[in-house]
Amino acid sequence: MKKIQQEEFKTTCSYCGVGCGIVAQKSSDNKITVKGDKNHPVNRGMLCSKGMNLDYVANDLSDRILYPEMRWSKSHPRERVSWHKGLDRAARVFKTLIQKYGPDSVGFYVSGQCLTEEYYIANKLTKGFLGTNNIDTNSRLCMSSAVVAYKKTFGEDSVPVSYDDIELADCFLIAGANPAWCHPILFRRLEKHKEENPEEVKVIVVDPRRTDSARFADLHLQLIPGTDIILFNAIGRRLIERGYIDKRFIKEHTENFQDYKKQAYSLSLKKAAKGCGLPVDEIKEAAEMIGRSKGFISMWAMGLNQSSVGTDKNFALLNLSLITGRVGKPGNGPFSLTGQPNAMGGREVGGMANLLAVHKNLNNPQHRQEVADFWGVDKISEKPGYTATEMFDALESGELKAVWIACTNPMVSLPDVRKAEAALKKAKFVVVQEISHKSDTLECADLVLPAAGWMEKEGTMTNSERRISYLPQELSPPGEARADVEIFCDFAQRMGFSEFNYNSTEEIYAEYCEMTKGTNIDISHLNYDRLKNEGSIQWPVPEYRHPGTTRLFEDHQFYTPSKKAIFNIPASINNTSTLPDEEFPLILTTGRVRDQWHSMTKTGKVSRLRTHYSSPVLEINPVDGIKYFIKNGEVVEVKSENGNVRLRAKITKDVRPGVLFLPMHWGKQLSSDLNRANNLTFNRVDPQSKEPDFKFTRVSVSKFKKP
Ligand code: SF4
Repeated sequence: MKKIQQEEFKTTCSYCGVGCGIVAQKSSDNKITVKGDKNHPVNRGMLCSKGMNLDYVANDLSDRILYPEMRWSKSHPRERVSWHKGLDRAARVFKTLIQKYGPDSVGFYVSGQCLTEEYYIANKLTKGFLGTNNIDTNSRLCMSSAVVAYKKTFGEDSVPVSYDDIELADCFLIAGANPAWCHPILFRRLEKHKEENPEEVKVIVVDPRRTDSARFADLHLQLIPGTDIILFNAIGRRLIERGYIDKRFIKEHTENFQDYKKQAYSLSLKKAAKGCGLPVDEIKEAAEMIGRSKGFISMWAMGLNQSSVGTDKNFALLNLSLITGRVGKPGNGPFSLTGQPNAMGGREVGGMANLLAVHKNLNNPQHRQEVADFWGVDKISEKPGYTATEMFDALESGELKAVWIACTNPMVSLPDVRKAEAALKKAKFVVVQEISHKSDTLECADLVLPAAGWMEKEGTMTNSERRISYLPQELSPPGEARADVEIFCDFAQRMGFSEFNYNSTEEIYAEYCEMTKGTNIDISHLNYDRLKNEGSIQWPVPEYRHPGTTRLFEDHQFYTPSKKAIFNIPASINNTSTLPDEEFPLILTTGRVRDQWHSMTKTGKVSRLRTHYSSPVLEINPVDGIKYFIKNGEVVEVKSENGNVRLRAKITKDVRPGVLFLPMHWGKQLSSDLNRANNLTFNRVDPQSKEPDFKFTRVSVSKFKKP
């Protein structure tokens, strides 16, 4: 019998922003097995259910798109074409539209799952060479509120802390996040730390749902959705009253404290508690836990970011770190938990419609010129591009004619998804660069380009703690699939830009590293060889032998012009979402389940991962069950002003009365149009970050009656 040889290599998990290290084995018949990397500083050998099943995803090619497909007109079916024919037509269409309607008539919609090199090239092509800033990303849907808040508070989009700070802290405030399910390995580290120090370590969870994270906490603040600012300000007020603030830090290293204090004192604790639907004592207890701690870390995710006041919620939370002086010290600091594996890398290369690479700002003429000079082009357009939801609005209005979608499935993930779907169907030309036939977005594609998946391409990613990892290519892409970066470069050259004639991905990475020289995210001395030999490293890495930076702002010198951190004051303490009324009396919030990822194009094909939740269910409190005559397991219909869904109800006290919860993963391909949570949501956005308000949709619910 033929002996199968095993080859071992290291890589990084392709799901969440925790960025766990993986040791993979490849057999001589190209089958992969995976296990956690015991020596990796993030996960220390652990993997969650999603990570553990990545080998199945890599080995199963049954759903993979194997060759380009194109349709010559909207009324024709797509047919197999060569890469040459497909990309040539795409270049012809883009050139014609740009000539006829200007560069802002085309756009790119990419993803936090793109590798840094892919993100960099797509941005360079769009902003530097096509002459439009119409490139945005699905990270707009998850992290953009945190990006704005970091920039306005610290001067740049910079996460100050590391996972290693977890074991140094003794108080955690987890707000609008369920890391037990969505960042499991990070949460496992926190659990272990608390198990080893049960008396010292305190965990506070702020969430309208009683999640597994909340069950683990010492204190669960089960607030009314949307009232986070009132709560954080009330905690701030109590910290001030109890003398738990760092006056010296505030005086020497911050600006605007008096304005902060004024707003924090604008409500009494009693009124604030009433506004949040919480007992006063719970707010006091939270302040005591924070005030008495030696190390205070706040962690947050979509519950804060995905809101019409998402940036203001971020400000209110960041301000708690500022009043207590808990930044730039071991075991202290604010820590946004990134959903996607390379959302951070995308931000570094300016992967949003209003950003430029290396943390430069699009609205700064000098920054625009510096980037233009680096790329050897005359200028970068000063006009901000369309953000995610704006892009689909512009497709609907006809201002945007063609869109190129890579590594994301907006027909499941965008708010008010039926409207987005209709807009996409109206577009003159839609390119979808994708790995799986399971993506709903393929339905709207004029040109489908098969992309390489995890392990089938090389590049780098940055996790939530600024840690850059190198991912090797160990497998050949199936059929005619190609690496995303190769596809972008080929298209760019067909558009006439010889500057994209790179010899390797490494050359692209080196160009980006050169661009970071002298900036606050300097990795100019971090080449592929170092990443391959030494493993992952946290930016900045300004010198060749520099070990990477565990913590930012240890000297309390921030990146603002005054070098001080800024207390930003929320415009209002109240939520600006459309409130429930008689017709739509309930608040719907959406989110993830433990074993699924995004629109399930990868996790959905692993049967083991479907046992946790085989289909979506609507969580509803028993009080509302009685009120609306709904029993556990019955099929219900949920309606909003935008649309409806139909699915089974789960009666549970895990949600507050008046609140419903619905998982966001299921789309048409894997279930039905009637299970898409985003049929219900609005494309209302936070005015500062343009991040959609997924966490607050007014709806009604009733038992479904067959017509
Ligand atoms: Fe992958 Fe995130 Fe799970 Fe780690 S915690 S194995 S990065 S999904």
